[in-house]
Amino acid sequence: MKNLPYRDFDDCRDDRSDQFCFTYFPEENTLPKWTIELTASEIAEIASGKMQTLNLWKCQNPNCGSHFFSPNETCFDCDYIDDELDERMRIMDTLSLSLTREDWVKGYLKSFPDAHPLRIIGDYNSQAKLGKKWGYFSLVEMETLVEKLKG
Ligand SMILES: [Zn+2]
Repeated sequence: MKNLPYRDFDDCRDDRSDQFCFTYFPEENTLPKWTIELTASEIAEIASGKMQTLNLWKCQNPNCGSHFFSPNETCFDCDYIDDELDERMRIMDTLSLSLTREDWVKGYLKSFPDAHPLRIIGDYNSQAKLGKKWGYFSLVEMETLVEKLKG
């Protein structure tokens, strides 16, 4: 059994100082994980053998296999595939048809007018073929271009 620290203790609900978060990987090197939160006394009960079962909630995606300690948890692997992401992918596809990288940024700003230059660079760089075709942006280049385009 392999227990790995999962998040900072600050992230634990209720800010209870004796609450500890763990992620348990039931199978080596694969996706499913069990996210578990325990108090110090619960850990002691498990160690002493007094507590032998945990109630966990499983992800709604039958192919996922991850389990959570609370029904309100979101599954990092499944719950973030949403319309917003689809929309973003669609925009990125359209933008990849731009004729120059300046056009790309111009189009990007139409869809995401408040995007920070670093965010724009991140989205640009994540499309590897753009960087190969037009070269990558430095932060200064992007800031200058964004200022010019927003003019
Ligand atoms: Zn899942």
